Amino acid sequence: MDTEIKREFRNRKMRLKVINILLMPLVCVFAYLTFQPNTLLFGFTAQQIEKVLFMIIPILVLAMAWSWQCPNCKKRPGNVKNPYSCSNCGVPLR
Ligand SMILES: [Zn+2]
Repeated sequence: MDTEIKREFRNRKMRLKVINILLMPLVCVFAYLTFQPNTLLFGFTAQQIEKVLFMIIPILVLAMAWSWQCPNCKKRPGNVKNPYSCSNCGVPLR
């Protein structure tokens, strides 16, 4: 049971890492491009990129909030970056 939770928590952390490493720079680049007046990225104008950003950002925030959960009680495992155990239900996370 414990190992299952630990594995699940590891998966969630991995997902969070993927979001941070791959998608955040992409969002930053997109955000930067929308501030350039004559942006044309793959045929998309700044206004179109902006619309895509407004759709992507809430999804990212939700995905991050969803990933950063204790697999046991589904609440935030605490404010530390890499907790040993859930501050809520006390289940060991790694
Ligand atoms: Zn918990």
